[in-house]
Amino acid sequence: MADLLLRGARVIDPFQGLDEVLDVAVSRGRVSEVGKGLSGEGREVLEAEGLVLSPGFLDMHVHLRDPGREDEETLESGLEAAVRGGFTAVCCMPNTDPPLDNAPLVEDLVLRARGLGLADLFPVGCVTRGREGKELAEMGLMFASAARVRAFSDDGDPVVDSGLMRRALQYVRRFGGVIISHPEDVSLSRGGQVNEGRVSFALGLRSIPALAEEVMVARDLLLAEETGARLHLAHLSTAGSVRLLREAKARGVRVTAEATPHHLVLSELDIRDYDPVYKVNPPLRTPEDVKELRRALADGTLDAVATDHAPHSPEEKEREFDYAPFGVVGMESAFPVLYTQLVEKGELGLPVLIERLTLGPARALGLEPPDYGEGVRPGARADLVLLDTVTEWVIDASAFASRGKNCPFHGWKVRGRVVLTIKGGKVVYRAPDYRWSREQGEKVRERT
Ligand SMILES: [Zn+2]
Ligand SMILES: [Zn+2]
Repeated sequence: MADLLLRGARVIDPFQGLDEVLDVAVSRGRVSEVGKGLSGEGREVLEAEGLVLSPGFLDMHVHLRDPGREDEETLESGLEAAVRGGFTAVCCMPNTDPPLDNAPLVEDLVLRARGLGLADLFPVGCVTRGREGKELAEMGLMFASAARVRAFSDDGDPVVDSGLMRRALQYVRRFGGVIISHPEDVSLSRGGQVNEGRVSFALGLRSIPALAEEVMVARDLLLAEETGARLHLAHLSTAGSVRLLREAKARGVRVTAEATPHHLVLSELDIRDYDPVYKVNPPLRTPEDVKELRRALADGTLDAVATDHAPHSPEEKEREFDYAPFGVVGMESAFPVLYTQLVEKGELGLPVLIERLTLGPARALGLEPPDYGEGVRPGARADLVLLDTVTEWVIDASAFASRGKNCPFHGWKVRGRVVLTIKGGKVVYRAPDYRWSREQGEKVRERT
């Protein structure tokens, strides 16, 4: 592994509150030097002027379909998609077949991920055995296992039984775990396809009211408050959920929350011609909901962006809207879409977006060094991503590493390209047609 010098990038590191143009040297898997005017002698030099260097991103919510549906995604294709999207760590949800509800299974997954040498894998364990919602899974054993599971969820489904959810929160509180809630009251959402309102009426599709989410958000906030346990709310989509979250945080409830790029960027008005690529759960909501989510992301009410990456086979996804499964892929489009739609439009500062992709999710999960989050400083493990925020390009889902091509951002013109991802000092992704040169740096700088 050759020593590397990344010369002259704007280094944005939320772990140190750093935002400065610096040279960063990488040697033997670690950041060896950070400073100005570092020597390139004996190092491969990448001219990174005009580019942005950040700690590798953390996606706290992805579905990798492995084990069980390797036709839709494998550990390898999923983690390859991660590093192409700038993520050097991901948390995979346990709704696999079999579900991730025991220590040997999560340990096996982590070992296999390590063997690939792409992104770090932090599995999320089941809250209930078999994800059946009947009895608690052995969360303590998964926490203490070599997989070091920190978060638990029955994602894909809510924990319907309030008594069981309360016991789950009491249980993880003892060892410092966190419960991730998939907030959905299925008695209000069952059979629904799109958000309840104008669009469901116009399209004649069965609907899911905002209330289906908000009722469950309210319940879980009450349970978290009463138990004193840590709760994380997944994929919030409505202004009402944000209001409940804001109030709970103000009261001191130990809660964090995420929103997805698709809920932050698309609304129900984007659903065209019954195209199932827009079918997600929770559904795309109103433009007013999107506005409130963006406000909450900017002011820190929302702690993290997570993709809820959900690959599906084309045979299953490209069906009639009513019969298509919910979900979109997201890891390879997340940063460019958010950069173009939020940062370029002046709604969010770039350092804030990077914080919501690094420190924010790390805090929500309770992940700390050396697992994640050493930042860009001498001695830190070199998990880094280099971004070109200037050159325009077009998202092409057919070229994704993910086996899932169900991406609503296919064909979008964007900026914010991942040009290099480094994991443990090793280059795990390099944009194939990217020109590294001083001239490219000049060009980029001129346009900044
Ligand atoms: Zn979910
Ligand atoms: Zn999910």
